[in-house]
Amino acid sequence: MPDAASHLPFFFGSISRSEAEEHLKLAGMGDGLFLLRQCLRSLGGYVLSMVFNLQFYHYPIERQMNGTYAIAGGKAHCGPEELCEFYSKDADGLCCTLRKPCTRPSGVEPESGIFDNMRDNMVREYIRQTWKLEGDALEQAIISQAPQVEKLIATTAHESMAWYHSNISREEAERRLYSGAQPDGKFLLRQRKENSTYALSLVYGKTVYHYRIDQDKSGKYSIPEGTKFDTLWQLVEYLKLKADGLIYNLKECCPNPSTPTGTVAPVLPAHPSMSVHRQFSSLNADGYTPEPIGTGKSRVLPMDTSVYESPYSDPEELKDKKLFLKRDHLMIDEVELGSGNFGCVKKGVYKMRKKQIDVAIKVLKSNNEKAVKDEMMKEAEIMHQLDNPYIVRMIGVCEAESLMLIMEMASGGPLNKYLSSKKDEIPMSNIVELMHQVAIGMKYLEEKNFVHRDLAARNVLLVNQHYAKISDFGLSKALGADDSYYKARTAGKWPLKWYAPECILYHKFSSKSDVWSYGVTMWEAFSYGQKPYKKMKGPEVMSFIEQGKRMESPADCPPEIYSLMQQCWTFKWEDRPGFVTVETLIRSYYYSIAAKTEKGSNLEDKTSAAFP
Ligand code: AMP
Repeated sequence: MPDAASHLPFFFGSISRSEAEEHLKLAGMGDGLFLLRQCLRSLGGYVLSMVFNLQFYHYPIERQMNGTYAIAGGKAHCGPEELCEFYSKDADGLCCTLRKPCTRPSGVEPESGIFDNMRDNMVREYIRQTWKLEGDALEQAIISQAPQVEKLIATTAHESMAWYHSNISREEAERRLYSGAQPDGKFLLRQRKENSTYALSLVYGKTVYHYRIDQDKSGKYSIPEGTKFDTLWQLVEYLKLKADGLIYNLKECCPNPSTPTGTVAPVLPAHPSMSVHRQFSSLNADGYTPEPIGTGKSRVLPMDTSVYESPYSDPEELKDKKLFLKRDHLMIDEVELGSGNFGCVKKGVYKMRKKQIDVAIKVLKSNNEKAVKDEMMKEAEIMHQLDNPYIVRMIGVCEAESLMLIMEMASGGPLNKYLSSKKDEIPMSNIVELMHQVAIGMKYLEEKNFVHRDLAARNVLLVNQHYAKISDFGLSKALGADDSYYKARTAGKWPLKWYAPECILYHKFSSKSDVWSYGVTMWEAFSYGQKPYKKMKGPEVMSFIEQGKRMESPADCPPEIYSLMQQCWTFKWEDRPGFVTVETLIRSYYYSIAAKTEKGSNLEDKTSAAFP
């Protein structure tokens, strides 16, 4: 997950004080010359290094519990960029205002710090071990859930570290440290009986030293007078690098005999909802796992649901995978989930070898003519070739009382309806998260050379408040291996307001025209389900676009998001970004706000909306 400052040209990442001074010297030592670097002591914090009167000044910037950033005694700002902008206008206690950024040489990326690398590996291992994912499913889970998983890891990871001995006494800690070899730096961390604080026990010169770990009001951990950390594992990792007040730095872990050994990666804690998920999985197969009991705050991640991986990812189930399903394995409920021209969508249950899954069944009206039947079969054939966590999967088709298309269930319904009914409860960051998932799904389609041709908020279905899937492949086409677009012979009943100019003018459809539709879908989502180009009729929209006009930014929409919409609405398809770029852009914005949003911040914590 990139740093919240990684896009700033004057951010050097994890460099030392003396390296910062070297860069400033090379850049001329002018008054107000400055750069930003990562702070090793306070995680998520920075240091502003600057020059005045040929002298260096280094100001630590703390990330505070509410997610804001401040120099000690100074005003709070919502991000490092905003903070630098403020000090470029007002010195407010600094040696002078920030006048000239000292920028990284071209082609040089910010230096990644030990914690960045460690964090990335931990996220990967956590996801791999907790959800038993590999390959694409693992990669997609990392991309879409890194911010959430990071928060989970940060608060609980120490519990499964080999050096963590839970609540043993001081005497027992000594017994464990004195047994076997006693190299300098051998250590363990334990929970103290008294008011559940922690202690660090460390060997030096064949003697065990004990250090109390304090926790301040904001929850940060430190050894007395030492650097403060958000989590215990960060404190341990830091003390491995630097003694920071200890008699010696931490070196060799004294492993807890009850922590399983043999795993290469750190053994990570089980995700709090996992046991609950297992408990409910046979009862509740609709892809929505109930909020974990007792944990309150933790949220259900896409990987916790039964629709993250294909039901056929189990090799036993794969043996039965066929396009046509047996009617007697299908139970159809009378409950209607929705309807369209073809007929209606009903709720149902499909019986597989080992499990029963909740499904949505598109039932063709029996009086429909052959052409409609053919269309539905084409949709089925397209969906049959797709397998992605952010796309509604088709389980198969069933020909019985009518032709039926059996799909995974996304019980939250269409995104536009959901957002318009929950306007006051869903924070903007939640919409960014969902639209990022749509971008992941569209990037997959682009890679597989499929064009959707009907991407719109009504065709993004929700599994739950934090999990979206692209649906409705009724207009979709598979492109030939050498084709970059599909050319329609005649215009049909088309969703013109979502269509790029080349679709309307030349009937040409490509992933680039899907990008245009993605921009319109973003507009719908960020305006909480409003209709695009409100009063205009479809054909009027075309002349509006040809005049170079575009929809205005939805109210309170972040400028970064509106700028991405505008890029999606680039007139010429050759100049428009593809989904690889779109996904990267929305991802970096999503990660940057996730880095800023902490518990209690109003970006994230509007009252969590109740899900069906
Ligand atoms: P469609 O014609 O595919 O757009 O489907 C019409 C409506 O049926 C949608 O707007 C949804 O409300 C519902 N629906 C379609 N597919 C599903 C699904 N896989 N899970 C839940 N509801 C669905």
